[in-house]
Amino acid sequence: MKSQLSTSVKLIQNYDLCEHCSGRLVSKTPVKKHQVKISNSSKKKCYICKNIFDTLDLMALNIIEKLNDFHFKTFHLGIILKPSLLERDDFIKSKFKIQGVENLKFSIARQLEKKISRRTHTTRIYDDPDIFIEANFKDISCKLRTKPLVVYGRYNKKIRNISQKQSSCRSCNGIGCHNCEFKGIVSGKTVESSISDFFINKFECNQVKINWIGGEDQLSLVMGNGRPFFAKLINPKKRNKLLRKTCDLKDIALSELQKISVQPKGFVRFKSEVSITVETKKPISSTHLRKLKTLVNIPILNSTDEKKNFTKYIYQINYKKLGKNQFHLDIIADGGIPIKSLIEKSDLTPNISDLMKNTCRCQQFDFKNILVC
Ligand SMILES: [Zn+2]
Ligand SMILES: [Zn+2]
Repeated sequence: MKSQLSTSVKLIQNYDLCEHCSGRLVSKTPVKKHQVKISNSSKKKCYICKNIFDTLDLMALNIIEKLNDFHFKTFHLGIILKPSLLERDDFIKSKFKIQGVENLKFSIARQLEKKISRRTHTTRIYDDPDIFIEANFKDISCKLRTKPLVVYGRYNKKIRNISQKQSSCRSCNGIGCHNCEFKGIVSGKTVESSISDFFINKFECNQVKINWIGGEDQLSLVMGNGRPFFAKLINPKKRNKLLRKTCDLKDIALSELQKISVQPKGFVRFKSEVSITVETKKPISSTHLRKLKTLVNIPILNSTDEKKNFTKYIYQINYKKLGKNQFHLDIIADGGIPIKSLIEKSDLTPNISDLMKNTCRCQQFDFKNILVC
């Protein structure tokens, strides 16, 4: 008891400490603050923290001002300090053999959290907060990062000549350069850009990453219930904005929209109902057309498919001759069978060109429906 008491006295007599640091380091020992005369601590600079606690109100003000733009109920706070502060804290603790007291960083975080929490009526949580605040005491600045928002939905493509995905800028390969205005992508309307712009405007997010359930050609229409997708919205400011189930973006229509908590992991199995127009080099014979029926329920193998998720099948096939060198196909097949490769000579076995002993070309294919299994 006696040695602990003298330690505390020595510490406070030999080093100028602010009330926060002395309270923190001495509170575990039997000395109460009032028993030791803290000499004008408010005027002198604290040996450990250089009066960092005096900047908490300013830091809190900065943070709260920035938080004004954000929707959130929970937050987590990270603190960046000059290493020298922590070094001096450790030095004092080891010199005076002080153990089991609150660390300086933790002490600052706790006090700052209280101020933020009180002023914004929100809660600090460690696990999965809506917003992460990084307070940098080196320059009294802060950075905010919000939890991504995941939205599920489907889209219909009502007109042709719109690519599904944005393509990378050819000059910089997506890194960003003068040609692409540092966006890394070729400008122009795509399904991806329409969906991204909609979410960026609505939730004020920085970026949208879309996970597509299958893909289509630039010329394809997407009809029926539409193609499902998951959109991960990066750093949304207004996460609580109301999201209606449907939204008409002119050439693209969105439906079944809903915020979900997490994006499902792994591969989503689906079937596509596709309508295809095929052109042939040689005139079509009925014998060869009839052969198309043999494609039903046999494995469609892709020699270049490295993923080999599962064996893909065609479940239904209907054809109609349109002319001497043209026919129409309606198929229901597993998602992920590349339609052009199915028609043309390709790495797919079987493919329709080989089967019909004719050079077939896929003129156009539309998605009549996409069914999630
Ligand atoms: Zn201090
Ligand atoms: Zn570029």
